[in-house]
Amino acid sequence: MNARLQSWLGDQIQTLKDQNLYKVPKILETAAGGRVRMNGKEVVNLASNNYLGLANHPNVVAAAHEAIDRWGVGAGAVRWIGGTMSVHEELEERLAKFKHTEAVLVFTGGFTANSGTIPAVVTDKDVIISDELNHASIIDGVRLSAAKYKKSEGYVYPHKDMEALEKILQNTQSFEKRMIITDGVFSMDGDIAPLPTIVELAEKYDAFVMVDDAHASGVLGKNGAGSTSHFNLYGRVDIQLGTLSKALGVVGGYIAGSAVLKDWLINRGRPYLFSTAHPPMVAAALIAALDVMENDPEPMRRLWDNTRWWKAALNEAGFDTMGSETPITPVYVGDEGKAQEMERALWEEGVYALAIVFPTVGRGKARIRTMPSAAHTQADLEFALQAFKRVRDRLS
Ligand SMILES: *Cc1c(COP(=O)(O)O)cnc(C)c1O
Repeated sequence: MNARLQSWLGDQIQTLKDQNLYKVPKILETAAGGRVRMNGKEVVNLASNNYLGLANHPNVVAAAHEAIDRWGVGAGAVRWIGGTMSVHEELEERLAKFKHTEAVLVFTGGFTANSGTIPAVVTDKDVIISDELNHASIIDGVRLSAAKYKKSEGYVYPHKDMEALEKILQNTQSFEKRMIITDGVFSMDGDIAPLPTIVELAEKYDAFVMVDDAHASGVLGKNGAGSTSHFNLYGRVDIQLGTLSKALGVVGGYIAGSAVLKDWLINRGRPYLFSTAHPPMVAAALIAALDVMENDPEPMRRLWDNTRWWKAALNEAGFDTMGSETPITPVYVGDEGKAQEMERALWEEGVYALAIVFPTVGRGKARIRTMPSAAHTQADLEFALQAFKRVRDRLS
């Protein structure tokens, strides 16, 4: 053990603790659901991205079992060296139909779909224009690219500020290609990107658009097909990223777009080239999850019923939900220490919801992030609401 490294790591951890930014994961002892056991305690789980309850849906679980019996548990190689099974191909075909795009390429995660795709579609002659609240995996993908992208150089626009975006587009006309990149649904605020305006501006200034629909997948649009479907922008968003890890309940990410885009990413998307394919049961479970989404409107209806009820109840009780428009419902706190105190108090009351603090959100903008889902009953949400009220009264 190198003493220099060990003591540096210890110092870093201490700094995080001093700033109330230190995290310790709690351990789930049951399937991800609305009510779970964690660290030995029964709690209402308001922190899961399992929006539609598909992570343990019986059809999805059965499909995974069957796939294990047929294919075993591993793909054995990266996609282009013998790791592509027909079940992987079937999933991509199904997703392309679902998204109304020519083609889809699946990556092992949404994170790697971002970090593999963004650097592959731009060069040092290009610029990437970003919303300031884009997800960490977009930011990492952007940083891996050779393009210009820096905030200090003027290529990041204030959150959803379309006038600022237009100014940047006017000032960057000498670049060869220009990519505008945004979350479809912002993961910590729960608001929706103004995609119709972004697309219009992109068309006006000959730029192209990439949208990260991690939190719109299964949540917005027809049967949960995402923000392009929600805004009826079919054929006008060049690159759509979806996740298979959140509402679809399993794991993975995909890029939906043109056939030539897919072709290029097969040849130049580094995580596709250098990381092993999904286990076949993952692809099979995802096909079953898509079947549920396309044929059973009930989970999405429950998700949105619960979402509307939860937001209205919080607002009525005087909590600030920060203009959220989707199931992601932040409860504004501000101070990091206070948010973490609130998280602990909620836990004592039997509610698991996380304080989201810097660097995930800006300093002084801490919040408790809550995620109602199709897996919650009305009683679960009532219970959580009473806990929020008691904790507020106790801490104020
Ligand atoms: C969760 C998330 C990702 C990463 O997706 P995974 O499939 O979990 O790797 C990417 N982008 C956004 C906006 C996300 O919220």
